[in-house]
Amino acid sequence: MKINEIFYSLQGEGYWTGTPAVFVRFSGCNLKCAFCDTDHQNGRHYTTEEIISEIQKYPARHIIFTGGEPTLQLSCDLVERLHALGKFLHIETNGSIRLSDDIENNIDWITVSPKDAPIKIQRIDELKALYHGQGQDMAALDSICTTNPDCRYLQPCDVNNPQENSRILSETIEYIKQNPRWRLSLQTHKIIGIR
Ligand code: SF4
Repeated sequence: MKINEIFYSLQGEGYWTGTPAVFVRFSGCNLKCAFCDTDHQNGRHYTTEEIISEIQKYPARHIIFTGGEPTLQLSCDLVERLHALGKFLHIETNGSIRLSDDIENNIDWITVSPKDAPIKIQRIDELKALYHGQGQDMAALDSICTTNPDCRYLQPCDVNNPQENSRILSETIEYIKQNPRWRLSLQTHKIIGIR
């Protein structure tokens, strides 16, 4: 599997905010979002053993497969072997690729952050959508069902401009107040200055 990096930090966003986790950042993505700020093109090939050995350096039980787009590479073998070690396995995906039934039925948590592509994944435990500001067409996002009705997070998009970010945050808060099925997700790792 081509991996960009494996690191230990706290989950900064959504339902698991504040939870210590090992992040396995897969290299490569099937989409090309204009606002993508993730370095996921570089990386090197890891064997399953190398990934497990890197993960085992850290005490956390929670493992987050992210990217890039982790569904392009995540294997049943890795899932089974990490489960055998007692790990809680969480995947963050753009939802545009179907997972194999084996992985979809066995992984512990699926977070979908939809982008500009149809959702193909069947199970969504947590929806984490980006909000770009007033005028965004929310019909498609509003119609997505989650296994946990309370896990619908709206996150203001970071456009790298403090004034614009402040406007988008205010408009996100206003949208949530008007549409209370949503909850606010902030990129707390950026606020507190960790990875
Ligand atoms: S889906 Fe995510 S990782 Fe892929 S290009 Fe879009 S923002 Fe970047």
